[in-house]
Amino acid sequence: MTVQITVDRTRCTGQAMCESIAPDLFQVDDEGMLSLSAETVPDGRLDDVEQAVACCPNEALRLSS
Ligand code: SF4
Repeated sequence: MTVQITVDRTRCTGQAMCESIAPDLFQVDDEGMLSLSAETVPDGRLDDVEQAVACCPNEALRLSS
């Protein structure tokens, strides 16, 4: 099953909680702009991504399938 990761940029404030959990998937630059290194959850990484989604203080990350 393919699970898509999306970020609501009106909510994301670049606090990088997601990056602290999965730094290979979420990167916040010096200006607080979040980049996703994948648009879908890589194999075996659903637990990490779900944890990152749950830890976002602004509920800016969403998963959909
Ligand atoms: S934890 Fe949430 S607010 Fe912080 S960078 Fe990630 S998506 Fe944005």
